[in-house]
Amino acid sequence: MSSLKVVAPLLLLAMPSAFAGQAPTREEQIRDTAITVQKLSDGLNVLYGVGGNILVSTGPQGVLTVDSQFAGMVPKYKATIAELGGGAIVYTINTHGHFDHVEGNTILAPDGTRFVAHENARELMSMPRVINLVTQQASQPAYPEEARPSITYSREMRMHFNGRQIDLVHVGPAHTAGDTAVILRASGSSPTVVHLGDVFNMAGYPFIDVDSGGDLNGVINFCQTVLAQIGPDAIVIPGHGKVSGYKELAEYVAMLTALRDRIAALVASGATLEQVIASKPTAPWDDSRGNPAGFINRAYTSLNR
Ligand SMILES: [Zn+2]
Repeated sequence: MSSLKVVAPLLLLAMPSAFAGQAPTREEQIRDTAITVQKLSDGLNVLYGVGGNILVSTGPQGVLTVDSQFAGMVPKYKATIAELGGGAIVYTINTHGHFDHVEGNTILAPDGTRFVAHENARELMSMPRVINLVTQQASQPAYPEEARPSITYSREMRMHFNGRQIDLVHVGPAHTAGDTAVILRASGSSPTVVHLGDVFNMAGYPFIDVDSGGDLNGVINFCQTVLAQIGPDAIVIPGHGKVSGYKELAEYVAMLTALRDRIAALVASGATLEQVIASKPTAPWDDSRGNPAGFINRAYTSLNR
């Protein structure tokens, strides 16, 4: 959909802007950004705003979302969900514990929404943290108990909602230590739909949050495991960027595998971080993915342990 307005992820906003003048603050972005909707099938929509992409299921059992964006976006997308025919959100599955995917929980909690996530995502949300994005350090608070996931799992969990089987799959450390692939199995004419959170980024290079247990090899393994579970007609939702499919996820795995091999070979030869940066290992992808500084730093750190 060319008319779709896709908002740059928060993780990229810290990087030098291609536009002249001051980059907008997060508050200005939240104030100025409207929710845009992409329909996937009846009762299934993706909402773009500020923060991670939201998947919404509306139907006879009510509303389920995947991720909750920033607190300031909640009134906006609650209005959108009402326009889609939905009411209060029964469940929100958090793909991981980063603020741009979970802060909205604080606003949803009084509605009685139940939060579901991997146990390590709950742990990440339970203490104040500084997220090391390399190009900036972002603080997130310990979220109050009512905004933390009350339902957690370790390897796999299955939900049934609005006629869909929903599998929550954790493969291992990837973007963080607590990532979930949310897989809505095919139903009727609707193909399989996967929300991969920030394990899959289509708005730049992935951020490997090494300080929160993230791992580059784990991102590759996580995506390969999901690819093996879905067919070529699957719809794949990245944490940031446009809704994609099997082909884009496979290309992403190929890119990351090539980058891993290049950087790992340099690490094995004793190269310093500065030498890895100077060798421009990401050059073929920089036009489409943007500034690689944060990725190279975190990939080097991940492979040098
Ligand atoms: Zn994240």
